[in-house]
This record gives sequence, structure tokens and C-alpha cells, in this order.
Amino acid sequence: MAQVIEVGESMTVGELAGLLQIPVSKLIAELLKNGVMATVNEKVDFDTAQIVVGELELDVELAKKEQESVLARPKRELSDKAEARPPVIAMMGHIDHGKTSLLDAIRGAETTKDESGGITQHLSAYQIKHNDRYITFLDTPGHEAFAALREHGARLTDLAVIVVAADDGVKPQTLEAIRFAKGAGVKMIVAANKMDKSEADLNRLKQQLAEHGLNPEDYGGDTVVVPVSAKTKEGISELLDMILLVTDLEELKAEHSGRAEGLVIESHMDKGLGRVAVALIEQGALRTGNFVQVGATYGKIRTLQNTGGEILEKAGPSMPVIITGLKNLPEFGDEFVEVASEKEARERALRVAHSRSSGATTTATTGSELLRVISRTHELTEFNIVLKADVQGSLTSVADSLKSLDTEEVAVRVVSSGVGIINESDLHTASSSRAIVYGFNVSLPAHIKRLAARDNVSVRIFSVIYELIDDVKRELEALLRPEVVETDLGKLIVKGVFKTTKTETIAGGEVTVGKITLPALARVKRDKEILAEDLEVTSLKKGPTDAPEVNSGEMCGFSLKTEARLNIAENDRVEFYTRQTKIRTL
Ligand code: GDP
Repeated sequence: MAQVIEVGESMTVGELAGLLQIPVSKLIAELLKNGVMATVNEKVDFDTAQIVVGELELDVELAKKEQESVLARPKRELSDKAEARPPVIAMMGHIDHGKTSLLDAIRGAETTKDESGGITQHLSAYQIKHNDRYITFLDTPGHEAFAALREHGARLTDLAVIVVAADDGVKPQTLEAIRFAKGAGVKMIVAANKMDKSEADLNRLKQQLAEHGLNPEDYGGDTVVVPVSAKTKEGISELLDMILLVTDLEELKAEHSGRAEGLVIESHMDKGLGRVAVALIEQGALRTGNFVQVGATYGKIRTLQNTGGEILEKAGPSMPVIITGLKNLPEFGDEFVEVASEKEARERALRVAHSRSSGATTTATTGSELLRVISRTHELTEFNIVLKADVQGSLTSVADSLKSLDTEEVAVRVVSSGVGIINESDLHTASSSRAIVYGFNVSLPAHIKRLAARDNVSVRIFSVIYELIDDVKRELEALLRPEVVETDLGKLIVKGVFKTTKTETIAGGEVTVGKITLPALARVKRDKEILAEDLEVTSLKKGPTDAPEVNSGEMCGFSLKTEARLNIAENDRVEFYTRQTKIRTL
């Protein structure tokens, strides 16, 4: 049997060679063959290491070290006033096994329209009521859930529902999910999904689970496996029953009064509400008017809503809430605490901002980066990319060059980056964050190329930095709103009105400034008031004949196309102008 060596997410070439007990030069040569140029002190990621180890034909298997259980929710000292709180659930599992469908089915099944006030937006958490009890679901779509939960979410999660398609069985990401939940000390139950399919094989699935340490109850173990179908909704109610049953054993409690504390799970700009954060309350009661410090920002809670959009005065533990009133957008995973005054909130936020900028805490994680992708800002359009490079040095210089392309309107968001060849996980990340994968001096293995084509992920490989930058620049330029250029032509004063209908106005006047030509738009003003604007000028006449242009001091007649009867009168002023949209460049 092959020897299993546990390694972390990434390791230096030197460390890897040491673990494999091979000369560094041999490893470097093998990496080169795979298109990765790395020196002894440079880092390679797990996937790259695994491929190279496979090709070296060593009798060794690499396994990712389990996440340390520091991620587990810290147990708090609770007072005897602490009361039961709803459980917080995360769905994890292999891509396409139905996490999103199940989350949708659960939300659809249990939230009634009138209760929710109509859900308008997809938020990263929601709460449902089942058997008169609340359950909170973290709803981070797709692969992002993984990275994000790995970073911070485990702290929030009381139970992971491992979703496995019963027709497909246990897959690599299923194992990754199991490993992660185990490492984080999070309890698990299994939802055997797609049971409606004729290929579904529950026994085979249970067998596979047992082989991987999740021994189902009917195999003598204690893993709850619930057969469900997100499609037919069969088993959903039982799944919710089991979620409550299993989490009941944990006797989940929290303080329901006192200062509120929790974690930000999403933030975005909302057209109507402005800066919005979705936060999960862990302890205490949050009310409108409370002062809070949230990571490096702070504010006074202006509005408090549940994720169904209902206005709340107060919210308690395990509840995902939408808050407004913060000075800046916080980041995923930012902790919030209620404090006594605005001054205290500001000072605490400043301290966090300071420690972040001085690099004292290196919390820049793929998790928060990824989640920021879901942060939709209306002002800033972001172009998401996944960046891979041959060595750390070139990765840094490409990333730095990309940063310099940012403007207030468009920005490059590197959702994930790393040294090494492009792998499946890069494609997952790209696909779930609608990113383009850029590779610099790296190779694209044939099977990854096929996967990319199948999943419609665009992968672009460059070996010259400025060509890569130019490509990104072109993408950014395409995102820029075209510039609207207005050019004044001339102005006239109305001397007579000949006809006004709903659709047309014909009038005449004397040009006082400039020169009027067609095509043109017109703005009609009375003193300072604008009566109408952007009206199309359909004809321009000097006497009875069409005129190509009318100059200052001359009289003319003109027709305007209207949508409603225009209240135009003698002495009104009409300004003529053109408007052009120009494609912009960076
Ligand atoms: P995710 O990647 O785990 O979030 O998976 P999705 O929820 O996006 O589902 C992947 C595909 O499986 C979609 O085409 C779904 O329509 C399909 N799917 C999900 N659940 C079921 C199910 O219970 N039965 C069937 N027949 N298809 C399902």
C-alpha cells in the first residue's frame, strides 16, 4: 500500500522534496515538465504537488491535512439566562449534487409569500420555520461555500448537511467536505439527493459512506442518511426533522439579551438601501439605533430586516439579518459587536483598519475574496479573474500590474490565485464566480481544457505579461459605461406656436445663440424650469422650405416629436443639442 503523506494547502518545493525523500533537483525537473517553474523556496499548491507526485510514480499518496479544529465554534461561557437558539446549517458536497436545488427547495417549501413579504433577492442566508421551530441555512452558492466556510463559516455552522447525489455516489468534493467538517468539529448528516432518478442507488451510497468513516445508522453506525429529492421535494420534511433532532442533542444555547455580537456573511450595495450587510447574530439582541463596530467599519443600525425583507425592531441569536447604516461595506467574516457609543465604534473600527493595513493580521483569505464576488456593487463593476502563474514572483507582478488597471468604475477582482498548473478547482472557482482563468507561463492539461470547454469556463494562457494585461484591459474597457457627450448647437426664443398635439409640436422663433442643425435634440425651458427635454427635432424650416442650418439672428420654424402635449408658449426658450455615446478606453 502506498504511503500516505499529509501536507497542507501549499508547501515549498524544498519541503515537498524532503517529504518525498527525493533530490530537490529531481522535483524541480518534474515541475518544469509540467510547465511550473519553481525554485526550492517557492510554493506549490496541493493539486500541483499531487499531479507531480503521480507522475514521479512514487509509491506515495498525498493527503491534505485536516483543517485544525481552531475553526470550530468557540464555546462561550453562558450565563444561566442563556436560552435555546435555532441551529445554523451549511450545505456542502460535490458540485452538481444538488446543494443549490436543496436550499431552494427548502426555502420554497417553508417560507410562504405573505410571511416573507416576497423575497426579492438571493441572500447568503435564510431562516425557515419547520414544526414551529426556526432553522437557519447558510446559502453560499456553489464552490464558494467551501472556501468561505473553511475560513470563517465553520464558526457559524452547527451542522453540515453533506449532499450526495444518490445516482453518482461519493466524489472527491464529498470527501473534501467530510474532511473539512470533521476537522472543524462540525456535526454532519447526509442528504442522499436525486432519489427520484432511476439510477439512484441508496445502498451503494451507504456502502461508500461507510468506507469513508461515515457509518450509516442501518450499518450499525451513527450517521444519519436521509433520502431526498430536491426535484420532487420528497424527503425534505424528514431532512428538516433530522436536522432538528441531531442539533437538539447539542443543546444549542445563546444569550438572547445583552449586547449583540455576530459575523458578517455578505455585503453589497443595494440600489434603494445603499450599503447593506447580511449578518448572523450569534449572541445578544440587535436593535435599530444600536452602534456597532463591524470589522474595519462601524455605524448606527439604520434599518434591520430579516432575510425575507420584513422590518424588525430587534433580532436575536442565529438570525440572519440585513442591516444598513454602516459607513463602509464590511467583508465576509468580519465580526460585529454592539458598543455603547458612536465614538467607541469608530475607535474600535479604526484599530482594526490600522492593524489590517499594517499587515498585523493577515486575514486576506480566499474565503473573503471569494465572498466579495457575491458582494454586488452597483457603482463598481468588477471583473473577476482566477490567476495562476509559474512562480510566486511572476504571480505577484501580474497581480500588481492588474491592480493598476482599477478605476472607480471598473476593477479587477482576483478571486483566487496561486502558483502551479491550472486545475479543476480553479475551474470550479471560476465557474461559480463567473470569472475568467488567466494563466501566466503555466500549462493547461488536456483534461482540464476539456472540462473548461464543458463548463464554459474561459481559460487564457499568456507567456508575455503585457499581453495578459492588455487582454484584461480590453475586458475592463468593455465593462465601462459608454461616455455620453452632449454638444450645444444653438438656442432660440419662441415667437409663435403653430400646433401642439400629443405627438407633435410645431413652433417658430429667433435663434439667439449658436447655429441649429439637424439631427438635434431640444430642451424647452421657461425661465429656470425645464418643461421638456430630449425631444427629437424632426424638421427645421426657414419660411416654407427645409433649412440645413439656421444661424444666430435668423428666424426659423421647427417641429418636435413629443409623447404628451407640450405646454409651450411665446418667450419660452429652446436649446438645441446633440448627444453621442462614445466607447471609452482605459
Ligand atoms: P450544486 O452544484 O450542488 O449546487 O447542484 P445544483 O443544485 O445546481 O444541481 C445540479 C443539477 O442537478 C441541476 O441540474 C439540478 O436540476 C439537478 N438536481 C438537483 N437535485 C435534483 C434531484 O433531486 N433530482 C433530479 N432529478 N435532479 C436534481
